Amino acid sequence: MPAARIYPLFVELSNRPVLLVGGGTVAARKATPLLRAGARLTVVAPELGKALQAAAAAGEIRWVAAPFEAAHLDGAWLAIAATGEAAVNQAVASAAADRRIFINVVDDAGLSSFQVPAVVDRTPLTVAISSGGAAPVLARLLRERIERLLDPSLGTLAALAARHRARIRARWTNLAARRRFLLALFEGPVAALVRRGRVDEAERTLAAWLDPSQGAPPAPTGSVVLVGAGPGDPGLLTLRGMRALNEADVILHDRLVSRDVLDLARRDAEFVEVGKEAGTHHTTQAQIHALLLEHARAGRRVVRLKGGDPFVFGRGGEELEFLRAHGIAYEVVPGVTAALACAAHAGIPLTHRGHAQSVRFVTAHCRESLDTLDWRALAAERQTLAVYMGVAGLERLRAQLLAHGRAPSTPFALVENGSRAQQRVVCGRLDRLPELAHRHAVRSPALLILGEVAALATQLHWFGAAPLGDVDETTWARAA
Ligand code: SAH
Repeated sequence: MPAARIYPLFVELSNRPVLLVGGGTVAARKATPLLRAGARLTVVAPELGKALQAAAAAGEIRWVAAPFEAAHLDGAWLAIAATGEAAVNQAVASAAADRRIFINVVDDAGLSSFQVPAVVDRTPLTVAISSGGAAPVLARLLRERIERLLDPSLGTLAALAARHRARIRARWTNLAARRRFLLALFEGPVAALVRRGRVDEAERTLAAWLDPSQGAPPAPTGSVVLVGAGPGDPGLLTLRGMRALNEADVILHDRLVSRDVLDLARRDAEFVEVGKEAGTHHTTQAQIHALLLEHARAGRRVVRLKGGDPFVFGRGGEELEFLRAHGIAYEVVPGVTAALACAAHAGIPLTHRGHAQSVRFVTAHCRESLDTLDWRALAAERQTLAVYMGVAGLERLRAQLLAHGRAPSTPFALVENGSRAQQRVVCGRLDRLPELAHRHAVRSPALLILGEVAALATQLHWFGAAPLGDVDETTWARAA
């Protein structure tokens, strides 16, 4: 049977008798979706496992406590054999075939006349995947991928559209106009409200759109999603970020965003690099704002993709202020910021009981940012500094911290290309920081972690090569 073409089908089982043969855990797993679909389920098995016992006690299933007989099939629309005993499964299959009742024998495509697909449930939307019994593992893998792609709110949105279906049809009798309206519904502000759990507001917006006193259907409105791409490994992108990338028409991305992350985006999206790199040709912030506005006003779904988190030294705030001032709808999806990614991949807990009770994210990208820092506060003990920086300011950083009382022996770890395959970590004491960075030719992007906890890198590192530098001088004992 696997070789033949299958005919996909969604069946209505509400209140219809279905027979399940078998009482164990596999049978219980099969029972759940049948019950959810409203089937009247009879379970034939001499004994029941815990789950089915509970279902029987609750009156959710009818239990026939006996070995299978062909007559048990009478009146059933479908049957499932899940006994784990080949002879019984075979008997159920042939008795079902005699009666022309569709039968699924678990894990036996040869004996089955229907397969149960792998399902992504966004009721009333259902995605069902079948390999015709040929490669169930592949079907399951595909299911997982689709599961990640589809926002959980999709079902609510579909139900909302269904509730207003008659009114939508009455309002837009012309098919093309109706389609435009529905696209605006599924991709525009109503969908965005549903995603945020504001269903009442979504319903009110839709009702206003359906008011006959209003003019043409709303033109598709553009929007911007600020997405944190994380440090580079696509595994560290959030599910929501991935969904936004999949729905984008235009992606404005920083230079730091890795190729692997961009590969997750919709293939036919337009990619625009708006990279900023000190000292080279770059797009100014004003130009980025202008691009955001231009694309959003043209009705496109824009993703502004930034390395790490958009709100940590990412100028995300300025972009939102600009969008708000121009009436463009926006959302923000956080990302794993460099400090968290570098700390995790260097084996450095940013806080640690007894050694660091607080952590500060500091930027030291230019002379001006170095001059405006509160050095006294930064030099306090038992705190961790995560310094986002170009590697040029290390001399000044050391001088200021020492001048304000931080101990010369304070451990540091400089993490270059944190979380990426080519990650390097250089460890040492604060008083030798610039020399060690120079000796090991540390390049951007690099993050400095300074504080008692940095010493732990020498013990707890697990990713990439072992730390370089004066590793023996940064033992935990010395820092403590
Ligand atoms: N919004 C970003 C930070 C942008 S500022 C975030 O949340 O991570 C850029 C600085 O981040 C770089 O100069 C460097 O200090 C740091 N950085 C970004 N990616 C890094 C990486 N993979 N390894 C080390 N540092 C990184």
